[in-house]
Amino acid sequence: MTQRVVVVGGGIAGLAAAHRLHSLRPDVEVVLLDQRERPGGKLATGVLAGGPVERGAESFLMGAPEGGPSAAVRLAGEVGLGASIVHPTAARAAVAVDGVLRDLPAGTLMGIPIQAPDSVLDEPTRSPLLAPGADVTVGALVRPRRGDAVVDQVVEPLLGGVYAGRADRLSLRMALPALASAAEGSHTLTEALRAAVAASRRTPGAPVFGTVEGGMSRLVDAVAAALPDVRCGVTVRALRRHGAGWRLTLGSTRDAAALDADAVVLAVPARPAQRLLEGVEGADPVPLEYASVALVALALPATKVPDLSGFLVPATEGLAVKAVTFFDRKWAHLRRPGVTLLRASVGRHGDEAQLQRTDDALVGVVRAEVARLIGVDALPEELDRGVYRWGGALPQYTPHHADRVAALRAALAAHPPIAVAGAAYDGVGIPACITSGRAAADTVLARLSA
Ligand SMILES: Cc1cc2nc3c(=O)[nH]c(=O)nc-3n(C[C@H](O)[C@H](O)[C@H](O)COP(=O)(O)OP(=O)(O)OC[C@H]3O[C@@H](n4cnc5c(N)ncnc54)[C@H](O)[C@@H]3O)c2cc1C
Repeated sequence: MTQRVVVVGGGIAGLAAAHRLHSLRPDVEVVLLDQRERPGGKLATGVLAGGPVERGAESFLMGAPEGGPSAAVRLAGEVGLGASIVHPTAARAAVAVDGVLRDLPAGTLMGIPIQAPDSVLDEPTRSPLLAPGADVTVGALVRPRRGDAVVDQVVEPLLGGVYAGRADRLSLRMALPALASAAEGSHTLTEALRAAVAASRRTPGAPVFGTVEGGMSRLVDAVAAALPDVRCGVTVRALRRHGAGWRLTLGSTRDAAALDADAVVLAVPARPAQRLLEGVEGADPVPLEYASVALVALALPATKVPDLSGFLVPATEGLAVKAVTFFDRKWAHLRRPGVTLLRASVGRHGDEAQLQRTDDALVGVVRAEVARLIGVDALPEELDRGVYRWGGALPQYTPHHADRVAALRAALAAHPPIAVAGAAYDGVGIPACITSGRAAADTVLARLSA
């Protein structure tokens, strides 16, 4: 009988899992389920003033941590989009400090200066900065050795661009894994930073980021088109063991249907995963808070803006906006005559009140704060706008997250083939989610063959 693997969640992790399952084992029936009308999760391209705009994720890292192309580049290549990857322009990014846009400092790792400023001491410690396998927050490692100003004004805004999170809560091992490894063998932060930079496998001069011309939804659509069975608008409500496999309950209570599977990949955020794993013995949920964010995209009539790809706004500035991208300056392929395009993000972890505003109010706040930061009285009336809200958008990994994930995976190994994948476990970036999805596919395939 044909074996069936059901992948729950059609974000990029679930898509990558299903793609790998189908590529390696075309004889296995692979079904991908997503509760929304379209797959893609946080990858979704919309339309603004007649051109593409990213409603969610905008770009991906080109290189893998271990060297070579990232999982995103490889997946794009596998679905025929390798030639459609484009890179940002050379425009610089800035950071707002005391209301003024300043260049981001050079010679840093995620904003952490390799050299300690004169004002702080980076005294050698007797034992290495981090015990093997230990974890601390980014703030705990960096504040004493680089000072609060560096953390608040540069490191946290840069981390915030990825996690919308706080340096004093985020796990060093998840946010800066190379620095965590280097800290296990270093006695000063300078030594650890140098070792982390030296260990980087990035090809010097190679582009760091890429995106897909036409939008990230092209990647989603191309992967989905290569799959045999994608079902959208289907919510998985429950999961339980059934014979040697699993039974999934789909749809509403009134209209429930069952789908049986020999193996399951759960590629959904932490909360739905927790609900689905409720009846699975020993599968302790990974406790995880999420930050919510809203993006406000504006198409303005051609407007003079600073010669930047965008800027970051530290929480210490006391503004709602946390980052702004002038996305037609950052991406040459998005330039259009007579239009200036910008996208601002609002919402930091723990500050969700900002997102309670109506769309009109959010646009008003963004317009006022951007005008102030770029030094003009007011922005011209927009030609078009979009407000994209992401509740529960970005996981906030606290120290020892990786240990909790390892414990969950060990517990799942005692059950019929099942694996978890996605941003809730292995990192927020698109390549990390793809790698996570592929690894989940390999796990269940190995168990099915056994
Ligand atoms: C605004 C924003 C900007 C970002 N920018 C970038 C960026 O530029 N670069 C980058 O690398 N990363 C970026 N990220 C992070 C990255 O996009 C995400 O971490 C990643 O896409 C998550 O993928 P995923 O597959 O793990 O989860 P998701 O994309 O969350 O997908 C999970 C899917 O599961 C489905 N689902 C949930 N519950 C159920 C259920 N019970 N039954 C069926 N289906 C269900 C959902 O509908 C969803 O489609 C950004 C994130 C956000 C929110």
